[in-house]
Amino acid sequence: MTAYKLILLPTEPQCPPLDCAQLASELQAMQLIREPLALDNGVFYPTGKHFLQHISFLGCSPSIELEPPSDPAELPADSAAGSFCHVFLHSSTSLCLRADKQCPAPRCPQCRQPFSGWRTVFSTFQQNPTLTDWNCSGCGFNGQLTDLSFRKAAGIGHTFIEIRGIYPSEAVPTDALLKRLQRLSGGPWRTIYIRE
Ligand SMILES: [Zn+2]
Repeated sequence: MTAYKLILLPTEPQCPPLDCAQLASELQAMQLIREPLALDNGVFYPTGKHFLQHISFLGCSPSIELEPPSDPAELPADSAAGSFCHVFLHSSTSLCLRADKQCPAPRCPQCRQPFSGWRTVFSTFQQNPTLTDWNCSGCGFNGQLTDLSFRKAAGIGHTFIEIRGIYPSEAVPTDALLKRLQRLSGGPWRTIYIRE
């Protein structure tokens, strides 16, 4: 099962991992999230009272489900499908790629040829995140995986704020939220929209 997700991450992939407990308490203080609830082997954060003040939905008022299902038995499937808005915090000492299932191949910055084997190269990279070199088969350009541009369909980093249940470009973080995150990490943040 896949879910639509809005993910916030530091723009700079090498930004050191943030402490999830610190991130959670910051987002709780803003009432973007509430206290965590158990799910599978971890936790998720239900949306807080001021969620819609920090994440702006665009266009005509969509029907957004902000509450978890009342029947706990439905929770695992509803979470996996993203049928209500809820938040996960991920932080890892290893670099991770989060990409849409249909993410187009990134292009070589020198010759613009699509990097067709990128999924294979990235799966090797996920096994060993120190292997960040890649070579363009078209022009021989040698670059870093972390420098590739995926626009808003993928992102590489250590820390991810994942909000499930948001369609591509349906909502955006407010400037105030981005500024607050920037103060926490010491650098700017970006938004990606993926289905995974
Ligand atoms: Zn090239």
